[in-house]
Amino acid sequence: PEPSPVPDARIAVDCHGIVKQFGEGPRALRALDNVSVAIRENEFFTLLGPSGCGKTTLLRMIAGFEYPTEGTIRLHGEDIAGLPPFKRPINTVFQSYALFPHLTVWENVAFGLQMLGWAKGKIEARVAEMLKLVHMEELAQRRTDQISGGQAQRVALARALAPAPKVLLLDEPLSALDYKLRKEMQIELKRMQSETGITFIFVTHDQEEALTMSDRIAVMSKGRVLQVGTPWDIYDKPAERFVADFIGETNFLSAAMVGIEEGVARVRLPSGIEISASLAEGYRPAGEATVVVRPEHARMVTTGGQLSGVVENIVYFGTDTHIHVKLDQGSTFMVRQQNSRSKSCGASVGDRVGIDIAPDAAQVLRD
Ligand code: ATP
Repeated sequence: PEPSPVPDARIAVDCHGIVKQFGEGPRALRALDNVSVAIRENEFFTLLGPSGCGKTTLLRMIAGFEYPTEGTIRLHGEDIAGLPPFKRPINTVFQSYALFPHLTVWENVAFGLQMLGWAKGKIEARVAEMLKLVHMEELAQRRTDQISGGQAQRVALARALAPAPKVLLLDEPLSALDYKLRKEMQIELKRMQSETGITFIFVTHDQEEALTMSDRIAVMSKGRVLQVGTPWDIYDKPAERFVADFIGETNFLSAAMVGIEEGVARVRLPSGIEISASLAEGYRPAGEATVVVRPEHARMVTTGGQLSGVVENIVYFGTDTHIHVKLDQGSTFMVRQQNSRSKSCGASVGDRVGIDIAPDAAQVLRD
């Protein structure tokens, strides 16, 4: 397939038709199967997918630690196949920060620049600038075996950003941090990316992390890229069942396709009621349709509604309540309702209720 055309921005990294096979013969494993993604300059781009889907393998090929079996990788238009890792204007931050424990924070950040032969004055200015960026000026003289995990993560970032790479690769860099610190660092990372203007390619299996930080996300499964888009695209317009299921919570309804007019589908729900639904990118016409509706795009009603059933379970989450409704046609549908202080969710287990799907909330998947 052709890489997606991007007329509005320059491409930093263009991976085209990438295949990576490990091993030979019947035991060969295709870790990547014809992957094409075009990552723009100044973009916070995330590779998101479950363990083993090939994220790290793709990242390692961009870094130059691994070579594609087939396909090309271009950096700003130039094929980089012949360039060893250290000659690529690309740096990597690993999950294990790999700092030198016996050196100070300052020395860790300066180390790479010394290796590159930078002049002393220039190194001093750059290290100071980087420590300021990651808010670590005050601990500059502390040894890195005497700082916290979050601080070590900041130092690793400062060190990777110091030589001003064009592209920074980040392989699950926040996974060792506790929940609260991880949330803080997500915002910090995004800030550093926009302040430096460096293209970030971030690997994670955490959908919430991807939605929070990314300009665009590539959702991967089993060595393939299933969908590339903004967090909004990926969440609200999932193209395939895997994407809809992996990101957030969703309801799937089996429906019959009634017709398509001006790109909008008319589908018949199991209840016999017809609704309009948008079509996923790449939709292939078929008689059967799988319709997805996010739980917050539906509400309970006492009369009417496009679906009906019996409340099976009510789960309170502080900010919202999840109401599971066993539909008359057999499947379960979840409605997410925002809580307010003054009233309860308005239903009890066993109640008969209707479900109203918001206009424009339904989407037909492509497969
Ligand atoms: P995780 O989130 O667990 O790191 P991932 O999405 O990054 O997963 P990869 O590490 O890219 O996945 O691995 C993709 C597949 O390729 C896996 O099945 C893995 O076992 C396999 N693989 C990776 N490296 C090699 C290797 N050097 N030799 C053989 N198989 C490998």
